[in-house]
Amino acid sequence: MSTTAMKRVAILGATGSIGSSALDVIARHPDRFRVSALAAHRKVDELVALCVQFKPALAVIADDALVPSLKDKLASAGSSTRAAGGASGLSEAATRDSDIVIAAIVGAAGLNSTLAAARAGKRLLLANKESVVMAGPLLLRAVRDGGGELIPIDSEHNAIFQCLPREHRDLDAIGVRRIILTASGGPFRGRTREHLGSVTPDEACAHPKWSMGRKISVDSATLMNKGLEVIEAHWLFGAAADRIDVVVHPQSIVHSLVEYVDGSTLAQLGNPDMRTALAHALAWPERADAGVSALDLSKLSQLNFEEPDRKTFRCLDLAYQALRTGGTAPAILNAANEVAVGAFLEGTLPFLAIPELIEGTLAAMAAEPVTDLESLIYADLTARQLAQRMMRRSFC
Ligand code: NAD
Ligand code: MG
Repeated sequence: MSTTAMKRVAILGATGSIGSSALDVIARHPDRFRVSALAAHRKVDELVALCVQFKPALAVIADDALVPSLKDKLASAGSSTRAAGGASGLSEAATRDSDIVIAAIVGAAGLNSTLAAARAGKRLLLANKESVVMAGPLLLRAVRDGGGELIPIDSEHNAIFQCLPREHRDLDAIGVRRIILTASGGPFRGRTREHLGSVTPDEACAHPKWSMGRKISVDSATLMNKGLEVIEAHWLFGAAADRIDVVVHPQSIVHSLVEYVDGSTLAQLGNPDMRTALAHALAWPERADAGVSALDLSKLSQLNFEEPDRKTFRCLDLAYQALRTGGTAPAILNAANEVAVGAFLEGTLPFLAIPELIEGTLAAMAAEPVTDLESLIYADLTARQLAQRMMRRSFC
């Protein structure tokens, strides 16, 4: 039995893959967690259905034009949830009347609300890795200034968080030599460039181990997801690029590892199910049932590990390059990747052109120091425009 007081949880990106895993965990613990706000982009009907089930005080639809429809549908469903919309609605959901905010919007669209939740001193459960990739130093400062805490729910970073001591975060002081991120390798592991020329969005999204939204699924197929995670690990754990390694582990059972100077390597293992990381971060420092079955070690016939194929999947090294360049380079990388993945999902850009477009955008823009949010948003916008232009010229 837990002695913890009821925690109020706001979910930004409630209709997505992480959002529904989070709601599944929360529904298992009505005595510990209550949903206070739910936000989604455009799926009004799904949002209303969640409001009927979880009865939050606030529902936010990010697309302002849909607020009237959200209001009408909440009223006809007999729901007393208040409707809001747009950036101001998202900011309200991120900052008001909650103890925990789950940042599960996909892409740069999640940046402002993630920062707002951090500044407001919430416990921030970070899934929206693009925001830390873009604005690492600003996000860390916002968490510090807000006096709250950030708990990663990206499975790799959650694993590392679990393998580090609770208080110290300076890696040298705690004897950490390396952080090792595991990667499943995605649906195209083992393929050569010749076999990737004509792959389709549906093939790229058919992930062998994880069921996720379409953008992160494509990122997994290009290995950009791991690249973004290297940058995420750099900021969250204070690790320089050469202390972060990537190993491909197709079974996705070992979620990541921490290597200590004394020869110990600690790992966190579990079935590939995001509810584990979500339950861990919701309940931390306690534990909560996630509805995930325990590992049956005798049924795991083997665990394999291999080097990533950096020549075929060039996005991984592009991310390392952006991290080493520093300043706005990771934001430029992220913006170009969002443009490229969007176009690939729409069927207008071939799979192998994704790294080319990112590389071209990085080469065409000088990285600037990250001073404030405005300079970052400017870099993000400029990179998007450049990537769009380059795409029209070279690939479409
Ligand atoms: P998804 O596409 O399934 O869901 C995205 C959610 O964000 C939806 O609720 C959508 O309504 C909302 N959204 C999209 N655009 C928005 C906008 N402009 N404004 C407001 N809301 C918007 O994506 P997902 O797989 O749940 O991933 C969400 C985030 O979590 C991503 O950053 C992803 O990298 C990260 N993540 C996901 C997983 C996973 O297993 N799915 C694992 C680790 C990290
Ligand atoms: Mg991950």
